[in-house]
Amino acid sequence: MSAGPGSAALAAADAKAGEIRELALAAGDLAELARRVAACTACALCRTRKQTVFADGRAKVPVMFVGEAPGEQEDLQGLPFVGRAGQLLTDIVTKGMRLSRDDVYIANVLKCRPPDNRDPTELEKRLCTPWLDRQIELVDPKVIIPLGRHAATHVLKVEASMGSLRGRVHVLGGRKVVPTYHPAYLLRDPSKKADCWKDIQLAMAELGLASPPRPTSS
Ligand code: SF4
Repeated sequence: MSAGPGSAALAAADAKAGEIRELALAAGDLAELARRVAACTACALCRTRKQTVFADGRAKVPVMFVGEAPGEQEDLQGLPFVGRAGQLLTDIVTKGMRLSRDDVYIANVLKCRPPDNRDPTELEKRLCTPWLDRQIELVDPKVIIPLGRHAATHVLKVEASMGSLRGRVHVLGGRKVVPTYHPAYLLRDPSKKADCWKDIQLAMAELGLASPPRPTSS
């Protein structure tokens, strides 16, 4: 069993994250932030990525989805949530929430793909956090919907199970946070779609959106 990073490594990562935070704060808009992310070499993922995957969407939309990290197709295309999981997320937005993809902003905790789609490491998350924090400030959504445990624990800055975090509305810095399952998990376990729909309805209530009957999934 491999040991996690030592305290010295974590302290070094935090110091480096402080430098990234300065760079991120100096970006006045999302386009500039994306350029700075594209040049980031703070962690080893910069050596294996095809490109950074910044986001899909524009500033000042009401809803921001935050996933975990780019996968193979996202790394190739430079966009988050493409493929089957992306189609399911689009269905949640358009058939469930009755919004358009233009009404939502989609990003990930990590901007570079972990090899073989492994989980993000603690060091990688600490180093990449300032980019996401600034992204949230610039998008300025009313509701953030973290997708899956990695995103939920990261956004809420707590260590807890997905089961204990989803199903309720959290308040973070004046924003509402409504965690739900990652679409890739819903594809593996469709029985969880009903719970996801309950979470989405909570988010819709925060947004003042009327809740239609549960959509049929394709
Ligand atoms: S994952 Fe984040 S911190 Fe690591 S190189 Fe990519 S942008 Fe930089």
